[in-house]
Amino acid sequence: MNPEALAELGASVLSTDADVTAAYAHDESRLTGRSTPVAVLAPASTAEVAACLRVATREGWHVIPRGAGSGLSGAANGAGEFVVLSTHRLDSISSIDPVERIAVVQPGVVTGDLRAAVAAQGLFYPPDPGSVAFSTIGGNVATNAGGMCCVKYGVTGDFVLGLEVVLADGRVMRTGRRTAKGVAGYDLTHLFVGSEGTLGVVTEITVRLLPAPRPPLTLVATFRSLTDAGQAVAAIAATGSPVSMLEIMDRTTLEAVDRLARMGFEPGTAAMLLVQSDEPDSAGVLAEVEKLCAGAGAVDVAVGDDPEEGAQLLEARRLALPALERLGDWLLDDVCVPRGRIVELIELIEGVAADEGLTIGVFGHAGDGNMHPTVIFDDADPHSREAALRAFDRITEHALALGGTITGEHGVGRLKRSWLARELDETAMAVHRAVRSALDPDGLLNPGNLFDPA
Ligand SMILES: Cc1cc2nc3c(=O)[nH]c(=O)nc-3n(C[C@H](O)[C@H](O)[C@H](O)COP(=O)(O)OP(=O)(O)OC[C@H]3O[C@@H](n4cnc5c(N)ncnc54)[C@H](O)[C@@H]3O)c2cc1C
Repeated sequence: MNPEALAELGASVLSTDADVTAAYAHDESRLTGRSTPVAVLAPASTAEVAACLRVATREGWHVIPRGAGSGLSGAANGAGEFVVLSTHRLDSISSIDPVERIAVVQPGVVTGDLRAAVAAQGLFYPPDPGSVAFSTIGGNVATNAGGMCCVKYGVTGDFVLGLEVVLADGRVMRTGRRTAKGVAGYDLTHLFVGSEGTLGVVTEITVRLLPAPRPPLTLVATFRSLTDAGQAVAAIAATGSPVSMLEIMDRTTLEAVDRLARMGFEPGTAAMLLVQSDEPDSAGVLAEVEKLCAGAGAVDVAVGDDPEEGAQLLEARRLALPALERLGDWLLDDVCVPRGRIVELIELIEGVAADEGLTIGVFGHAGDGNMHPTVIFDDADPHSREAALRAFDRITEHALALGGTITGEHGVGRLKRSWLARELDETAMAVHRAVRSALDPDGLLNPGNLFDPA
C-alpha cells in the first residue's frame, strides 16, 4: 500500500501501528476469518470520508466500513490487504425535531445514546438490538438490525427516513426525506439499509421517532419443555396480540445467564418466555397472554408492574450471548421462520443437538420467529468443530425449508455468504450483483462480504 497516498489523508489516518490495527481485525462473530488491516482510517466529517474513498478508488484499496465491530456475521472483517474506515469520530446527534418527530445523526452514534437523547425530550427511537449499549446507528442501518421491540415496532429500516451516503468513488449522495411523506424517485434509502457496507459509507441518518411509550408491564412464564413454550408463542402470535416484547430462553441459556447475573431463576426450568406490553390496557393484553401460556402447559406465569424488575429481566435476556460464550467455543445462528412453525424449528434443533452430541443453547426474539440457536463446541477438537458446522448448516437449511430466512437480523456477512444464493433466486442474485457493480464497479467496498466470491 502506497505510504504517500496514506500520508495524503493526514489526520484521517488513525493508525498504521499493528498494536492498534489488530483491534480492527474482526467483529464479534466466530469462524469468519480475521485479518489485520494495513491502516485504520477515522475521518471526522463527510468531506473527510469522501477524501478517503477518492484516494482508495485511485489506489485500488479495499475498504471495510466499520461501526463498533459488534456484528455477529463477520461483515466488518476484511481479508488480504485492506484498510478499515471507522466511523467512531462521526459521533454527533445533529438535531432532534419534536414537531416532525425526527432526529438527524451521524453513523458513529451509539444506539443507546440516541435512545436516551430522544427520551429526554419525551420521544422514542424503538430499535433496541441486544448490543444497544455499544453498537452504532450506522452499523444498525447497514445490517438492518432488529432487537426485542421488533415484534411490535419493527426493525431499524422501519425508522430510517433518509441518508447521506458517500459512494466508493467519493461522490456524496442524499436519499429519502425529512417530511412525514415523500415518494420522489426510487427508494434508494432502503437500498442502503442492510447493504452491509458493500454499496457506500453512510455518513448521516434521518430517523423517525415516536412519542414515548407507557412504562411496560412484564409477564414471565416458565415451561416444562421448550416445545411447550414454542406452542405458547405460536398461540400468542395467532391472536395478533400487540405485545411489545416476546422473548424465549431455554434451559441452557437460563442456567448460563443465572451463573453470570444471579437472577435466581427456578432451577430445572426448561424454558422461559418474557413478554411485555406497553399498551393502554397492558393488564388486559397480558391477561390474555397468561391464558394462552397456561393453555400451552406453562408451569408458572407471573405478571409484574415494577419497572425496575422488568428492566432487570430485559438485562438478563441481553446477557444470553455473553453468558453462553462462557460455556466454550460457540457458533451463533440467526434464522427466522414463520411464527406458526417455530415449534418445528425447536424440535429440529433439539434433534440436531442429540444427533451431534452437542449442547445448543436456544434463545431469541420468538415473537418474530427469529431464533438464535447457539452451538457450543470445542474448537481444539476437529470432530467437535465438524459437528458444530454440520449442526449449524442443518439448522439453517431447515429454516429455509420451513419457509424462513437464513438471517433475521444479524446479516449475511462472511458467515453466511455461501447461503445467500440458496435463499434468493438467480434473477435476484443477478440484480444484487448489478446494483453492486453500478455503485462500486471495482468492488472496493467490503469485498468478500455478502456474496460468495466463488
Ligand atoms: C451481545 C450482542 C447482542 C446483539 N444483539 C443483537 C440484536 O438483538 N439484534 C441485532 O440485529 N443484532 C444484534 N447484535 C449484532 C450487532 O450488534 C448488530 O449487527 C449491529 O447492528 C452492528 O453494529 P456495529 O456498529 O457494531 O457495526 P459493525 O459490526 O462495525 O459493522 C456491521 C456492518 O455494517 C457495516 N457498516 C458499519 N457502519 C457503516 C456505515 N456507516 N456505512 C456503511 N456500512 C457500515 C460494516 O461494514 C459491516 O458490514 C448483537 C451483538 C452482540 C455482540
